[in-house]
Amino acid sequence: MAEEKTIFARIIDGEIPADIVHSDDHCIAFRDINPQAPVHILVIPRKPIASLFDATPEDRELLGHLMLVVRDLALKEGLDDGFRTVLNTGAGGGQEVFHLHFHLLGKRKLTWPPG
Ligand code: AMP
Repeated sequence: MAEEKTIFARIIDGEIPADIVHSDDHCIAFRDINPQAPVHILVIPRKPIASLFDATPEDRELLGHLMLVVRDLALKEGLDDGFRTVLNTGAGGGQEVFHLHFHLLGKRKLTWPPG
């Protein structure tokens, strides 16, 4: 039986709308529907990697690309003062959508430790 498509795969395929702020051959980025900060963007690979557990050495360049897109978007969003990048992995790590994604959060004071 074919695995059910995640909501993020459906966004990549244009089946459901999203506020897309970046798109290239390897990834897209869009605003989180339930933002936890004034800037809350998700950066996701087009390749359907379920979580960081599922990444392989073959994904080395792709993962580096995603990080640089996070950086570029942070600067574009004016987060010169700093920002937070979160990668929830697995249910125990708070992951809800099983298509690897980086959260980019900024424009509010971010405390540590996180919840
Ligand atoms: P995680 O808990 O790390 O898996 O994060 C999943 C994130 O996806 C949450 O912050 C949700 O608010 C966000 N999300 C879920 N559905 C959508 C959607 N259709 N468009 C934008 N963000 C979404």
